[in-house]
Amino acid sequence: RALNFNAGPAALPEWVLEEAKKTWMDFNHTGMSVMELSHRSKTYDDVHNEAIMRLRNLLSIPDNYEVLLLQGGASLQFTMIPMNILTKGKVGAYVLSGSWSQKALKEAEKIGETTVLASSKDSNYTFIPELDKNTIPENAAYVHITSNNTIYGTEWQDFPEGLSVPLVADMSSDILSRPINIEQFDLIYAGAQKNLGPSGVTVVIIKKDLLERSSDSLPTMLNYNTHAKSNSLFNTPPTLGIYLLSLVLKWAENIGGVESLAKVNSEKAKLLYDVIDESDGFYKGHAEKDSRSKMNVTFTLPTDELSKDFLNQAKEAGFVGLNGHRSVGGCRASIYNAVPVENVRQLADFMKKFQEQVK
Ligand code: PLP
Repeated sequence: RALNFNAGPAALPEWVLEEAKKTWMDFNHTGMSVMELSHRSKTYDDVHNEAIMRLRNLLSIPDNYEVLLLQGGASLQFTMIPMNILTKGKVGAYVLSGSWSQKALKEAEKIGETTVLASSKDSNYTFIPELDKNTIPENAAYVHITSNNTIYGTEWQDFPEGLSVPLVADMSSDILSRPINIEQFDLIYAGAQKNLGPSGVTVVIIKKDLLERSSDSLPTMLNYNTHAKSNSLFNTPPTLGIYLLSLVLKWAENIGGVESLAKVNSEKAKLLYDVIDESDGFYKGHAEKDSRSKMNVTFTLPTDELSKDFLNQAKEAGFVGLNGHRSVGGCRASIYNAVPVENVRQLADFMKKFQEQVK
């Protein structure tokens, strides 16, 4: 198998792919694949509920939160959030820490009034800007943050506490990578295709009292209440994706849950950051040290020519997905939950050897 460092869709645990293969033609003695089951059948209902239950258990989601399995990606949430919870006379407050938060803001601007509380745009998003609670307007409907910036490789290390307004977080690229206190948040959303499964499923975890804000006049499919009231079965859900999500969550349970994943993730990130830090400036991390992401490690080499060489040789050696995003350049290694430590070790060794060879 490839040494897959794609940013998303990304590597899935091999165990998940093997399990899915076993049931591909005949799920649970039905003589049908999961994809062929009616979404109104008891068999599918069990798959659906198991996925939700596993997510609840793994993330310790309290009963006063709904877990929704939606479609449209995290990008649709950029729109649904302000549509549902940015009520009249209120302002959506955003912390800008990268392109995805900028995109979230852009969509909110189309729906209502917005404000920017903090931004690291001027430094090309090399750090997580500090949120000063005193700058939150009294009429803020919510504060929106992006917990991990996939493109720039920065991540919130601690989350704001004790805000007087709901906290909303785009956790697309670090959900399930470390323990979080759900109660610090009022709405969390994530596209599945990095840490949770294949693309096509979007997880939304929303505090029940926030659901009261959604107006009945909203388009049915864009109203959180539609999905909350129907257990995310209002219309046909992405059944295969939800089955795979459930398998990924089972895998996560089997290896000891979020604490274990966090430990391994720290180990993996350290392998690469150590190479960067010990390279005498040959590899330069994009992120400032105290904002470093454990999911996306971004770095550049001394020249574009060397970056190109590095990427070409890496490709030949079997590494996939190491090209940096165009807004940062250089390289990016996405090391989500399913990327084995061994693969990261191989990349760290490759980086060291490449530097040696250039000397
Ligand atoms: N937010 C973050 C942090 C992301 O990394 C991405 C995708 O890479 C998105 C949002 C957009 O997600 P989607 O493609 O599911 O709309």
